[in-house]
Amino acid sequence: MQQERRPIYRTPSSAPQPRKDSTTYKKMSRKEVWVALTALVTALLLIVFFESHHRGGHASPVVNKSPQQSQSTPTTPSFDKKQYSLTDPTSIWVIVNKKRPLSPKNYAPADLTATDLPQRVPGNETMQMRSITASALTQLFSGAKAAGFNLMIASGYRSFSYQTNLYNGYVASIGQAEADKTSARPGYSEHQSGFAVDLEATTRKCELDACFGDTPEGQWIAANAYKYGFIIRYPKDKIGVTGYDYEPWHVRYVGLPLAAEMHNQNTETLEEFFGVVGGAGYSS
Ligand SMILES: [Zn+2]
Repeated sequence: MQQERRPIYRTPSSAPQPRKDSTTYKKMSRKEVWVALTALVTALLLIVFFESHHRGGHASPVVNKSPQQSQSTPTTPSFDKKQYSLTDPTSIWVIVNKKRPLSPKNYAPADLTATDLPQRVPGNETMQMRSITASALTQLFSGAKAAGFNLMIASGYRSFSYQTNLYNGYVASIGQAEADKTSARPGYSEHQSGFAVDLEATTRKCELDACFGDTPEGQWIAANAYKYGFIIRYPKDKIGVTGYDYEPWHVRYVGLPLAAEMHNQNTETLEEFFGVVGGAGYSS
């Protein structure tokens, strides 16, 4: 799914010009004023021209760009892909997939927290998440509400033991091959990190179903999640990369800078962005 490339955090290309003191005008002749204004307009036109020419259709990462830089240096700063660990389970950039289990496999976050947000199973442990995820999700829900959409948490944190029961249940009913397409093995679920949340509309329409992506709520999430530091972790047609079918309801907190950078680069998955292995088969 192509997402609109919309630069964010961009500062206006021309800062408001300081207002000239009226006494300055009085001391200047008409000709001087005219020359000064012409020079000012020419400079502004040049700035606008170079800015728009430079932008021309290229997604330019603008995160970390200070207002000063945006005027003086048109080159795009490189995004530091080593700011956070990709393996430490406490890192907001940890990549969990079928080749990369959490380490240790029975990891549990130390700061799990409940939220005041609408929940499918109110008060249940599986509605919890890490506190940083909860803060960001609360803002996302506010944004959705302001746009007229009422969201609900369908699933948050899943412990190693919960995932063990869930996975074993699938294996018992549909066999291991099919279970591996549907449910993560214990230790391999992003939900165990406390950074992943399944969302749905309070109407429960298309609950945990691919059609959620076609609902107004699902479309709002797809278009706006990055503004709150989340990505749609399992996009369409990326099972060969992520190991999972399209899950428009499953968002993953990665922090604002990374979510914005991935959006600007139009890179949908963590595996592609960081160049790490993923895919459908388990490593062992
Ligand atoms: Zn999920």
